[in-house]
Amino acid sequence: MSIATNLLKIKSSLPESVTLVAVSKTKPISDLMEAYDTGQRIFGENKIQEMAEKWEAMPKDIQWHMIGHVQTNKVKFMAEFVSLIHGVDSLKLLAEINKQAKKNNRTIDCLLQIHIAKEETKFGLDEKELNEIIASSVFKEMNNIQIVGLMGMATFTENQEQIKKEFTHLKSIFDKLRSKDKPQCVSTLSMGMSGDYQLAIDCGSTMIRIGSSIFGGR
Ligand SMILES: *Cc1c(COP(=O)(O)O)cnc(C)c1O
Repeated sequence: MSIATNLLKIKSSLPESVTLVAVSKTKPISDLMEAYDTGQRIFGENKIQEMAEKWEAMPKDIQWHMIGHVQTNKVKFMAEFVSLIHGVDSLKLLAEINKQAKKNNRTIDCLLQIHIAKEETKFGLDEKELNEIIASSVFKEMNNIQIVGLMGMATFTENQEQIKKEFTHLKSIFDKLRSKDKPQCVSTLSMGMSGDYQLAIDCGSTMIRIGSSIFGGR
């Protein structure tokens, strides 16, 4: 099936409260333009260099989301245009994003990544580390970033109960954060990919990141 068909099919099945990020990593601009032409305006990439090249080449009304792990020394290459950074997992990285956002005279929206999977290899904070960041005075003085929510990735498994447990755990951390922080700012829960987005939505996701179900395998 074509990219346009895949996209429209997924979009029509989503509740209005759920935002779709079209994950276009490794795909050529012609593929992204096919999605763009059906109305898609939010694209997710996991490499800063690749995202910057696509940003330069493509229409300027696209919102670019960085969904991959971010190296501190590369933040400067996306600070001018990135719309949302999903995978923020340290105070050091927040400080760099804040610094580069300030240089560009803007505020950058971020999600803090929470480690919910069993795999040690996946990145992210635990609940205690999250709370330490939020409570720190250094963080409170960062005026050019806005934490708008949380992001997480479930274990890569066929076990639906396991995935459900992990998504539910993330949702509960999200709800606690909202009750502490200004709930109007903390509004985004980024969870769910091609294989598990329906379950993620059932568990309270507000933003799904879908690649292969739109653009095909990588
Ligand atoms: C690649 C990627 C996705 C999309 O994965 P699909 O299984 O192709 O939908 C979502 N989130 C992150 C963080 C990714 O790196």
